[in-house]
Amino acid sequence: MNIITKAAFAAALACTGTVAAAQERFITIGTGGQTGVYFVVGQSICRLVNRGTADHNLKCTAPSTGGSIANINAIKAGDMDMGVAQSDWQYHAYNGSSQFEGDAFDKLRAVFSVHGEPFTVVARADAGIENFDDLFGKRVNVGNPGSGQRATMDVVLGAMGKSDGDFALASELKPAEQSAALGDNKVDAIIYTVGHPNGSIQEATSTVDARLVNVTGDAIDTLVNDNPYYAKATIPGGLYKGNDDDVTTFGVKATFVTSSDVPDDVVYTVVSAVFENFDRFKGLHPAFANLTEEEMISGGLSAPLHPGAEKYYKERGWIE
Ligand code: GLU
Repeated sequence: MNIITKAAFAAALACTGTVAAAQERFITIGTGGQTGVYFVVGQSICRLVNRGTADHNLKCTAPSTGGSIANINAIKAGDMDMGVAQSDWQYHAYNGSSQFEGDAFDKLRAVFSVHGEPFTVVARADAGIENFDDLFGKRVNVGNPGSGQRATMDVVLGAMGKSDGDFALASELKPAEQSAALGDNKVDAIIYTVGHPNGSIQEATSTVDARLVNVTGDAIDTLVNDNPYYAKATIPGGLYKGNDDDVTTFGVKATFVTSSDVPDDVVYTVVSAVFENFDRFKGLHPAFANLTEEEMISGGLSAPLHPGAEKYYKERGWIE
């Protein structure tokens, strides 16, 4: 648990009979790389929370991290209080499946979901890559360990009966490094499970002639049909330079999660800060523009709702 109370300080004040300074509590939100959207999710939530610190004494920080898996593990270890995680990894962490086999995190709690995240493949235009299958034999950045895209990539490869070994190179660069590597011709393609539009793919497509690639076929259809946390996804054309056509892939949702060890009033305060300032929140990133309260409190959530979030949603009449 990372909530540091200034209990000793307050207790000392109380002893002297001075009006106790309100206890300040610090919460940490795990995000992702600085060029992604999770970083903006965390920063935006903290910005809204910190506007009310004088009232609730909660102070929020949202450092850059390795992504979904790193965030879930940090919450589990008590190193972070909350974090952003892909809906597929929320599911697996809570249920003890896939990478979390034998290691279920039963205290994992859902707070809300955020934007959709298409599994996004970007290839150099000169690499001869038209569909996901064309990646085999090429140099591919499969993502940093701890990231959601790396873990989801492993699932996709497994579903196709393939592995990293089927690439000429499988590099593990972070999101903030991979666009430059594509531009420098160090890799032929990069992958990123991420909301659109975002700075990272913008950088990739503006530094080199690069194309978003379709991720389709029988293995993908089976993954989508068999698993509630995947859905077909379209990345609209026109978002990035040189990419005027829609691209078909599959995707997940970004979700906001915490642990049942985090006190109800903390989660309640964070959730209130977001939904009492919802228009402001939606204005903080283009990937948030179409969010609705209804979808955010249901879609992509597989762990139980945290009681602090549930309380707020009940008060608003959004759930029974
Ligand atoms: N989906 C990515 C992950 O789980 C992060 C995307 C982002 O930072 O926006 O690691």
